[in-house]
Amino acid sequence: MHALRQRRAMKRLLCQVCGGVTEGRLPGGRRLFLVRAVEGHPVGEGERTASPPLCPPCALDSLRHCPHLRRGHTAALVEEVRPWGVAGLVHHPRTLRRIPTPEPLTLVPYGSPLLDWTLAARIMTTLHGCTPVDVRELTARHAWPRSGEGEGAGRPLPAASKHGTRRHQS
Ligand SMILES: [Zn+2]
Repeated sequence: MHALRQRRAMKRLLCQVCGGVTEGRLPGGRRLFLVRAVEGHPVGEGERTASPPLCPPCALDSLRHCPHLRRGHTAALVEEVRPWGVAGLVHHPRTLRRIPTPEPLTLVPYGSPLLDWTLAARIMTTLHGCTPVDVRELTARHAWPRSGEGEGAGRPLPAASKHGTRRHQS
């Protein structure tokens, strides 16, 4: 996902697809996270992620349309999301040149002296109080409105609704 949208969604914990609020959508103040997992392992306690949360209908759309997720994913209801740091490009404090690294982005925790020299591309958080969930089961229980659709809860989703049609947040 686009770096600016990622940072905005992660800072305010907005749905990464429709940009709507994810707060209060699920019982117990929990939020739905979907991460790529080729091995299909559950989301671990304190797992780091650069993926912002999703509202349930957008999570289902993502599973349908995202080939990466189709190859393997894991979903969890998360009680607490804590800020961890950033993923970005680290520069040398004296030469201001980019420090070469094996990975395209380096993970830098908040509080690190390197943070001042890092051009952040993504905000990273850690996930706590994680309960594995099946997105298809979760979404089958209700006709969820998308986060962006305040009223109309319980209304069936329009058949033609697609990923990306509601990127109106600015
Ligand atoms: Zn959404």
